[in-house]
Amino acid sequence: MADCIFCKIIKGAIPSFKLYESERVFAFLDIQPLSQGHALVIPKHHGVKLTDIPDDQLEELMPVAKKLAKAMGGDNYNILQNNGRLAHQVVDHVHFHVIPKPDQEQGLG
Ligand code: 5GP
Ligand code: ZN
Repeated sequence: MADCIFCKIIKGAIPSFKLYESERVFAFLDIQPLSQGHALVIPKHHGVKLTDIPDDQLEELMPVAKKLAKAMGGDNYNILQNNGRLAHQVVDHVHFHVIPKPDQEQGLG
């Protein structure tokens, strides 16, 4: 979608720190991380909410989120996915947050 920032990130029109890319999935670091290694995993298929995305476009997402959680978060992490303004969605392209919870505060921000 032309004016979607995450579609632009997928295309490389907006720079990002890419962590993973396949035919259907893209993962990159969040620009305002809640902890070190906070990643976003998105389908390349544009859709605003989870219910907008066809199942086959979602199949690989959880395996990628799991790998990133293990690689970045170790034993403690949150996986979050917001849908709609009342649910704190800001960017209107489906995304899963992978937020590591390190043992010690790392002084971000
Ligand atoms: P939401 O509240 O929609 O679930 O979260 C959107 C997330 O996207 C936020 O954590 C925000 O920091 C991140 N974000 C917004 N714009 C950009 C961007 O241009 N690049 C990157 N890497 N992350 C972004
Ligand atoms: Zn998009």
